[in-house]
Amino acid sequence: MFTPKYKLYIDGKWVNSNSGKTFPSLNPAKPKQILGKFQKGNEVDVEKAVEAAEKAFDSWSNTPAPKRGLIILKAAELLKKNKEKLAKLMTREMGKVIAEARGDVQEAIDMAEYMAGEGRRLFGHTTPSELKDKFCMTMRMPVGVYGLITPWNFPLAIPAWKIFPALICGNTVVFKPSSDTPLCATKMVEILEKAGLPKGVVNLVTGPGGSVGMSIVRHGKIRGISFTGSKTTGEMIVKEAGLKKVGLELGGKNAIIVMDDANLNLALDGVIWGGYGTTGQRCTAASRVIVHEKIKEKFEIKLVHRIKRLRLGNGLNPKTDVGPLVNKAAQEKSMNYIGIGLREGARILIGGKIPKMKGFFFEPTLFTNCTIDMRVAQEEIFGPIVSVIPVKDFDEAIDVMNSVEYGLSSAIYTEDIRKAFLAIQHIEAGLTYVNSSTIGSEVHLPFGGVKHTGNGTREGGIEGINEFSETKTVYVDYSGKLQKAQIDIE
Ligand code: NDP
Repeated sequence: MFTPKYKLYIDGKWVNSNSGKTFPSLNPAKPKQILGKFQKGNEVDVEKAVEAAEKAFDSWSNTPAPKRGLIILKAAELLKKNKEKLAKLMTREMGKVIAEARGDVQEAIDMAEYMAGEGRRLFGHTTPSELKDKFCMTMRMPVGVYGLITPWNFPLAIPAWKIFPALICGNTVVFKPSSDTPLCATKMVEILEKAGLPKGVVNLVTGPGGSVGMSIVRHGKIRGISFTGSKTTGEMIVKEAGLKKVGLELGGKNAIIVMDDANLNLALDGVIWGGYGTTGQRCTAASRVIVHEKIKEKFEIKLVHRIKRLRLGNGLNPKTDVGPLVNKAAQEKSMNYIGIGLREGARILIGGKIPKMKGFFFEPTLFTNCTIDMRVAQEEIFGPIVSVIPVKDFDEAIDVMNSVEYGLSSAIYTEDIRKAFLAIQHIEAGLTYVNSSTIGSEVHLPFGGVKHTGNGTREGGIEGINEFSETKTVYVDYSGKLQKAQIDIE
């Protein structure tokens, strides 16, 4: 069978890697199906990409932001026009079910439209001076060449959350996508090219994280790094990046609290969506359910009944609820956590096995009787495995929620407004949902987490603009004399 071969995109040209080597991208639902061969980039390719991005920076950063916005808007139109094609391709490349793949493309469209509009805002602020006849304001400046390193679980949405704000702020980009989803990344860059992005403004270098990714992180001419991925890689990046501006979006061990006064059917919907959507491979996945002991048994019976009805299969079939895991390593990791959970004393209510299917599938699994000292209740599994932790009251629920090193997303189901607001106040997380699952971010609101989920940056919304710009403070003194702040205050 013919296997298409894809290239790197450097300085407006599609080129082979200096390494002369390629790597394949597989369909996790049918691992024998190779979607394409991709360039195994290396340090030399990164060097060329950075050089191109540096050369393009002057002209791009001096292009009026509304004009930059028009190119991004054109990219949004092209994403819209190709939505179905891109969604199918995404399902084939990383496995998520087709309805979710459409959502992923839609998120990229939303971000492009939002950031295109931002070209006519990019607000700074003005404020009075403490001195007479002096004007004070702030302006947004680009950072420079940005290195963007992305994971596979949102192969268009996550690159969009980085590329579009980086571009609207006037930065140029070297983009290194996950080696599990190079095809989606290539399609994104093809769209940017078709939208009329000048050469060198975005450069694509596919290849291994350890070499391509690290060369980007260490490169002296790159001024900013935006990374989404695992905590281990994030920690390495912080150590190696030196004095660059670094934005990190790392892991999560998110939980849903179900109080005894909750609307149980609503909570069940939330747990099914949060726990098993994207086969549990979302940084915002709900991998813990903290349930009030009074309703635990009833809730678990209903939950098991709902999990039984989930259909596992190829995500291209619209009837499939749960697709495969992204690769063999992810399947093995989930299997490994089943052993860990059982050895720690957790009990499996349903699932826990690799089904007899060709792809990298894993049965939707529910552990019960978990306690906060168990690894299944502490570590990010990134698979369809949910752990139920019973609690006696609201205070204990909050303690359990906050007992993990991460702090990305969280949810509480309760009909008690007081408990809802106390939860908002006391949960340590970047996102808190009330009577809704841990999933559902919108592009015009900030996204990110506390504790080991990151280093305090946020993407999306105005905070996303902050990540990709520098603030310049401007003082204009029109008094015609030397005025000294803090000294001439009489
Ligand atoms: P990884 O950290 O393994 O990889 C992410 C990216 O980093 C890939 O492009 C990878 O390249 C690259 N990379 C790997 N090693 C290095 C290195 N030494 N230097 C520079 N780059 C490197 O994460 P996964 O792809 O497995 O993604 C899953 C993780 O992402 C989960 O922990 C999840 O929680 C997190 N995530 C966080 C989100 C958030 O917003 N908080 C959103 C989505 C996911 P290669 O593929 O070639 O190895």
